[in-house]
Amino acid sequence: MQTISKIADIRDIIKAERKKDKTIGLVPTMGNLHAGHISLVEQMHQHADIVITSIFVNPLQFSPNEDFDTYPKTMQADQEKLEAAGNHYIFAPSATEIYPEGTTSKTLVSVNALDGILCGKSRPTHLTGVATVVTKLFNIIMPDHAIFGLKDYQQLMVIKQMAIDLCMPINIIGAPIVRDDAGLALSSRNNYLSGEQQQIAPRLNQILNFVKQAILDGENNFRELEKQTMLIIEESGFKPDYFEIRTQNTLKSATIADHKLAIFVAAFLGKTRLIDNVRFENNEKNN
Ligand code: AMP
Repeated sequence: MQTISKIADIRDIIKAERKKDKTIGLVPTMGNLHAGHISLVEQMHQHADIVITSIFVNPLQFSPNEDFDTYPKTMQADQEKLEAAGNHYIFAPSATEIYPEGTTSKTLVSVNALDGILCGKSRPTHLTGVATVVTKLFNIIMPDHAIFGLKDYQQLMVIKQMAIDLCMPINIIGAPIVRDDAGLALSSRNNYLSGEQQQIAPRLNQILNFVKQAILDGENNFRELEKQTMLIIEESGFKPDYFEIRTQNTLKSATIADHKLAIFVAAFLGKTRLIDNVRFENNEKNN
C-alpha cells in the first residue's frame, strides 16, 4: 500500500490502473480511523478493483469555533489499519495541495435544497465545505464508486444529489452505521469524551430507538414528540442541538402520512457534538 500526497502522483497511478482496466473506488475520510471507516473500505472491495482511501482534514468544513486545530491525527495507526483491510492507496494531501489559494475559495459547491436544516442549520458552512472538497476529490480521483456512512445521512444525501445534479458519473454508496456494544455510533470525536460522558453517550441511540418504537406503536403527533424528546435529551445530560423526524428521501419534516421516516439527533456532551439517526418504515396501520 502506498501513501500519496500529490495530486499529480495519484493521477499518474490512477491512469496506470485504468490502463489495466481496473475500476476505482474512493473512501473519503478525515483520518483517525475506526471500525466504521474500515467497514467502508471492506464494502468498497465488493464494488471496485482498486480501493483508494483519502485522509484529509478539510479546513473548509469547519467553522472558526470548531475543532479543526485539535482534530486527532493518527497517520501511522491509520496506515496500519488500512493495510490490514487491503486498501490499495492512501491519498493524504496537504491543505495547500487542495487549496493552493487558501480556503477563501472562489468556487464553492452548495446543495441548497438539502442545506439550512439539521446539521446545515447549526453548522451553516459545513455542508458546502463538504460538497466542495468531495467535488475536488472526485475530480482528482475520478472514481467509479464512492462510499459514505449513513451516520452522516444528510451528508450522504447532499453528495448523492450533487452527483445527480452535476452529472458526475459516480456510483454513490451508503454504508450502515457501525456502533460499539452499547449502541454508540463510532466517531473520531468519541475520543474527546471523558469517562463519565462515555457512560451517557449511548443514551442518544437508546432515545432514537425509543421514539422509533413509539411511532411504530401509533404515536402520531410528531411535532409534540420532537419537543418532548428534546427535554428528555437534556434531562439525560446532553445539550440538545436538534431532534427531528423527517422523511428519508426529501429530508422534509415528516407527518403521519409519510411512510419512509428518519429520526435525526445532534447533541453536545460538553464541547463534543454527537450525531446519530435511525431510518425505518412506518407500518401500514399508522398511515
Ligand atoms: P469522517 O472521517 O468522520 O469524515 O468520516 C468518513 C466517512 O466515514 C464518512 O462517510 C462517514 O459517514 C463514515 N463514518 C464515520 N463514522 C461511521 C460509523 N460509525 N459507521 C459507518 N460509517 C461511518
